[in-house]
Amino acid sequence: MSASDDCLFCKIIAGQIPSSKVYEDDTTYAFKDINPKAKVHVLVVPKEHYANAAELAAKDPAELAHIVSVAQRIADDSFHGAYRLVFNTGLDAGQTVFHVHAHVLTGEKLDE
Ligand code: C5P
Repeated sequence: MSASDDCLFCKIIAGQIPSSKVYEDDTTYAFKDINPKAKVHVLVVPKEHYANAAELAAKDPAELAHIVSVAQRIADDSFHGAYRLVFNTGLDAGQTVFHVHAHVLTGEKLDE
């Protein structure tokens, strides 16, 4: 398992920083965003460290597909399968943590 020493989400996955876990399997971890932008706001991350969605897609496309299926499951459980999936990519798009993460926004009707 590759992990980056100075990566916040690697530390969350390793349990070194607390998080509110909603899902975990061998490759993937999901936890509640500490600053929720919707009634349900979960971050889904691969346990392996990749900087962004494009790098994950290039190096492990099956994991990217799995992240989408985990997002779907969270939305099935919380809001009849409706959700918004966001990958902020790059500083100027608002990415602040450079360990790829899918924002799953659900649990209520979302603004357009
Ligand atoms: O897309 P971006 O990189 O900005 O998203 C990072 C997200 O990580 C933010 O929504 C922030 O609230 C969340 N976060 C968190 N727990 C932390 C630090 C950041 O849920 N300990």
